[in-house]
Amino acid sequence: MLVAEGLTKTYRLPGGGSLAAADQVSFTVPRGGSLGIVGESGSGKSTVARMLVGLERPDAGTVTVSGRDRATRPSALGRHRRAARLARAREIQMVFQDPYVSLDPRLTARQCLRTALRLHGHDTKGTRIHSLLDRVGLGTREADARPHQLSGGQRQRLAIARALAVDPRILVLDEAVAALDVSIQAQILQLLTEIRDDTGVALVFVSHDLAVVQHITDETVVMRKGAVVEQGPTARVLGAPSDPYTRLLLASVPHKGWDPADAIRARAAVDAAVAVA
Ligand code: ADP
Ligand code: MG
Repeated sequence: MLVAEGLTKTYRLPGGGSLAAADQVSFTVPRGGSLGIVGESGSGKSTVARMLVGLERPDAGTVTVSGRDRATRPSALGRHRRAARLARAREIQMVFQDPYVSLDPRLTARQCLRTALRLHGHDTKGTRIHSLLDRVGLGTREADARPHQLSGGQRQRLAIARALAVDPRILVLDEAVAALDVSIQAQILQLLTEIRDDTGVALVFVSHDLAVVQHITDETVVMRKGAVVEQGPTARVLGAPSDPYTRLLLASVPHKGWDPADAIRARAAVDAAVAVA
């Protein structure tokens, strides 16, 4: 349903020169599927996420949803530009790491959802707002709270409810559980799995955390310095990786009996492989 084809983005650096933040990134996500994008900080994950939702225009490549190209300039859509832009926003919604930045501090949870529903011309009746709050496990007390009166986990639940308000086909989550402690993380991951099962929404899960991606995705894309080094079923990519960089990421995750020297050796193997290539 979602097809990213050859997504490429190069940034000009202030001191001259340029940086390939994404280079020919391609993948597909079926209806109701779940894709992980992993890689170290700076590998280009957020750049790809932003191109998916249209916050960033690719230098090359396309994003299509159900066969329709999302890159058509709104100006080409004439007087229905606003409606077309909103329709496109409804297809893919994004949830960010820090809901403080993306939530309006003045609005209560209820008002936040009403605003999102109204923007997209949906029914703003209390029942609809309540079923959204209910779906993400927020009660009537939280409904009248402003963001600063909610816990980190509750704020992220609200951000997810707002994204779901427009019945998106795809939810892109960029490090959406990274700032939460592990028990809250587990609750949010469980919630996302339930929502996916119930609504058929597809998930694109951007994360530096391999354990999280292993838990929640069917397919995984591994990025390094803007390029895809490996992709395929999560069980294969993270269970039996073929690329030294994926092995490095796995060797860097602390676990029982873990030796940091393993990660350092894996890093040397990557550097050697890159030097040869
Ligand atoms: P990730 O999400 O994997 O940490 P990003 O996609 O945020 O990586 O960044 C990839 C690379 O592109 C980094 O080197 C980052 O510094 C650079 N970058 C990201 N956004 C911009 C921008 N707007 N201008 C210049 N460089 C950027
Ligand atoms: Mg990022």
